[in-house]
Amino acid sequence: GERNGHVEKSTVLIPQVKFTKLFINGEFVDSISGKSFETIDPRSEEVIAKVAEGDKADVDLAVKAAREAFDHGPWPRLPGSERRRIMLKFADLIEQNLEELAAIDTIDAANLYSLGKILFINNAIELFRYYAGAADKIHGETLKMSRQLHGYTLLEPVGVVGHIIPWNFPTQMFSMKVAPALAAGCTMVVKPAEQTPLSALFYAHLAKLAGVPDGVINIVTGFGPTVGAAISSHMDIDMVSFTGSTATGHRIMQAAATSNVKQVCLELGGKSPFIVFDDVDVDKIAPLALNACLFNQGQICVAGTRLFIQEGIYDKFVARLLEELKTWVVGDPFDPNVNQGPQVDKKQFERVLSYIELGKKEGATLLTGGKPLERKGYYIEPTIFTDVTDDMTIAQEEIFGPVMSIMKFKSMEEAIKRANNIKYGLAAGVMTNNLDTANTVSRSIKAGSIWINCYFAFDNDAPIGGYKMSGFGKDMGMDALHKYLHVKSIATPIYNSPW
Ligand code: ADP
Repeated sequence: GERNGHVEKSTVLIPQVKFTKLFINGEFVDSISGKSFETIDPRSEEVIAKVAEGDKADVDLAVKAAREAFDHGPWPRLPGSERRRIMLKFADLIEQNLEELAAIDTIDAANLYSLGKILFINNAIELFRYYAGAADKIHGETLKMSRQLHGYTLLEPVGVVGHIIPWNFPTQMFSMKVAPALAAGCTMVVKPAEQTPLSALFYAHLAKLAGVPDGVINIVTGFGPTVGAAISSHMDIDMVSFTGSTATGHRIMQAAATSNVKQVCLELGGKSPFIVFDDVDVDKIAPLALNACLFNQGQICVAGTRLFIQEGIYDKFVARLLEELKTWVVGDPFDPNVNQGPQVDKKQFERVLSYIELGKKEGATLLTGGKPLERKGYYIEPTIFTDVTDDMTIAQEEIFGPVMSIMKFKSMEEAIKRANNIKYGLAAGVMTNNLDTANTVSRSIKAGSIWINCYFAFDNDAPIGGYKMSGFGKDMGMDALHKYLHVKSIATPIYNSPW
């Protein structure tokens, strides 16, 4: 780490990368073009591995396999209990490889290794178990028809799903998309982000070992404008489930509309407010506010990047925040004492730094940070701006880095109005001990997740997803399972009626 004179050492054995090819129809294969691309370790800026670079022709092969597996294969036709058994085995295999998977996401995505073991990989295991438990409980309902008809609904898997996923949490994103689609009986083509392709390929290997039939999960590694575009415009994909930037979300929805009107579900950017009222315990909430913004280097769509502090505790809260920041260690994500690692790649690193420059130029006060660390790797100091006005770019756009914007407010009504004064609506934090305030603010904020006196309160059973330009459709919870299911209604006369 760079702070507190703490000496950093990595005692983790970096795994040998085993899987670097596309995974199509149950086999690891080279790309048709034979091309590959480099995936970089953000800690050292060095190449970890060369990975097969897919393109449209590879997507075609993967879709063909997924189509065949859906139309004629066993997966959608298995009893739910069989899908459950295989998914539970898959979860067990992930558990047996937990440390290696955590290490892969640390070298590839700079996710903290210590949290990988207890949180990121563990959550994926639990998510597969959660949806495994749902696989044999998928059923429609009996309808109360107004005529002499027996009516009921059947839930059927939507078909071949394209999952396009980002790089911030490779394991979480993979499991959040794949687990409910598997339980529903869908088959799929997954495109991991080009920055972080490695763990998805490992998961494909484990899925095969667990008994997931060939063609059910296909992985095509490569870039957005090639592989991603081929998925979103494919005529034989029934649905695309995307998590990523709002800019890319626009393109995906457009491609879906102009190809086969495939269903779309988009989990896009955010600029979530973290609202602190005068009555809170500052010692308790200030560390929470810091983590809400800086967690995973600020690379989390629900990051609490707009910190609204009520005027009565403003000075005290900001002082406590700075004090807490002294204990925040930036360094190698393998080091258990580190809180913040490097940004994922050079492009993101430069993008974050350019937002910091813009913040200064627009007249915000740089309270702390603002510079890259003087070492190899894409490390940026935790950065806090005060005197931020709602119209500044740093208050409106998603930075996706360790940059906090602090604003002062007077009344609850003002806080609600300003918190909603944004195109995004993913999450919000409400910090107060006043029940009326908590209830009013939670109901007034236009966002998909509201966390009262906590933040990042994710749960397998709690759906997450956006309002407004943060997208639509939910991940996690039973809502995510249902987005991979069609509702078919069936009716038949009860007796020999005239209809
Ligand atoms: P970022 O700019 O942070 O990399 P993106 O939203 O572009 O975020 O990336 C998320 C995922 O979307 C990645 O897997 C990326 O390759 C993919 N992607 C990027 N551009 C496109 C596109 N035009 N069509 C489909 N997918 C894309």
